[in-house]
Amino acid sequence: MSSYIYSNTELEERYCPHCKEELSPWIAPPESGWAVLMVCNNNDCSFYKGSDEDIINKRDDSCLGCRYAENPDNNYSSFNLLAWCK
Ligand SMILES: [Zn+2]
Repeated sequence: MSSYIYSNTELEERYCPHCKEELSPWIAPPESGWAVLMVCNNNDCSFYKGSDEDIINKRDDSCLGCRYAENPDNNYSSFNLLAWCK
């Protein structure tokens, strides 16, 4: 399977440049304004693991991190998706 279809949007197969894992489609909450995003869900991703120190005022117990994500609606431009660790 080389592509996904989500609400008439055909998504390319995309790979994380940091850990080479395949990105997973993620349906964003409606209030975010995004339809669907491609997200790296690899907990061992160097981008995700290295993001801890970049978050200003991060509390030790908040466990926030940034996952690598791309927006198919914007030519697969990459950005940081703030996410909670599991
Ligand atoms: Zn990754």
